[in-house]
Amino acid sequence: MHILIHGGAGRMRSMGSHLEQQYRDGLRAACAHGAAVLRGGGTAGDAATAATVWMEDSGVFNAGLGSCLTYDGAVEMDAAVMEKGRRFGAVAAVNGVANPVLLARAVVEQTPHALLAGPGATAFARAQGFHFRDGFPSKARKATWRARRDELDAGRLEEGLAALGGVLGTPDEGAEIAALRGAGDEGSAGPDAKHDGEPMTDGDTVGAVALDSRGDCAGAVSTGGIWMKLPGRVGDCPLPGAGIWTAPGGEGAAVATGTGESLLRTLISKEVVDRMAQRGAQGGCATAIAFLEAEEGDNVGGVIGVTREGFGWALNTRGMGRAVWADGMDEPAVAVWPDEPWDRPVPGA
Ligand code: ASP
Repeated sequence: MHILIHGGAGRMRSMGSHLEQQYRDGLRAACAHGAAVLRGGGTAGDAATAATVWMEDSGVFNAGLGSCLTYDGAVEMDAAVMEKGRRFGAVAAVNGVANPVLLARAVVEQTPHALLAGPGATAFARAQGFHFRDGFPSKARKATWRARRDELDAGRLEEGLAALGGVLGTPDEGAEIAALRGAGDEGSAGPDAKHDGEPMTDGDTVGAVALDSRGDCAGAVSTGGIWMKLPGRVGDCPLPGAGIWTAPGGEGAAVATGTGESLLRTLISKEVVDRMAQRGAQGGCATAIAFLEAEEGDNVGGVIGVTREGFGWALNTRGMGRAVWADGMDEPAVAVWPDEPWDRPVPGA
């Protein structure tokens, strides 16, 4: 059994050392949550969903409570789950519901459909008695939106439309990140970054893939999308093959993060699963990212994948927070930067 999660690729620009610590703590806690589900006999889909729910509730990531806002200041979230047998459920541009990933599961489990979008998805959530957040989006997210909207309207935010693909920041970020990495620890959030109040950081989209004790792989993803996206914009996340894919026989699963438009054009998650079948988990992820880069350029995204034999990840952005737990580990290991080793020994890594 193993579970690998990510906290989004690329957007490391605003991350100071204490925010980075919150992000790392959040990844470890979410992964531990998913691992506990696996150890308790849950399915890979249960575990990936549980880790994703944790991240949606944390406020640390761009999903659920921490979702970014559209140009109009609204929350429009996308989420999906996929298990073996092409069991795929998704929601797109859904508003207000606390846990879009659970709604995606309800779509596959309780309707004849695969994907519900917009007001229809939100109405389905209400009819099913899903929890809606009060005071959502938060004052903090609204304040960030106001500032970004002013910048965008003044033509300063990553030169307008570039910002709409701009979850990934600019090429000059490398130096900034190096400076951040060199900065001291100015106050960690402590071992448990989860909280019920305001979002704490500007973390990114989340996803999880897992292998359960039955030998089945599955995945889950959730996102607020990208800051200042046009209302109605849907990224890769809720589209099968793009943001998420699980092999029909359950022998592999992958999820993606980054600029959704590039990821959906390349069907990158299916690409990962297909390549993992030929080259193993790490080789499959690496060759899929090489393909993504050849098709869409540098600084586009990252992927994580699991097979029955192992797990892999790859990215062509400045960073991608990730955490892994495998049989034999006491607690998950975490890494953020491309060349960073896991911070704990990982069997098989
Ligand atoms: N892929 C997401 C989207 O484009 C964003 C992200 O992964 O950060 O909606």
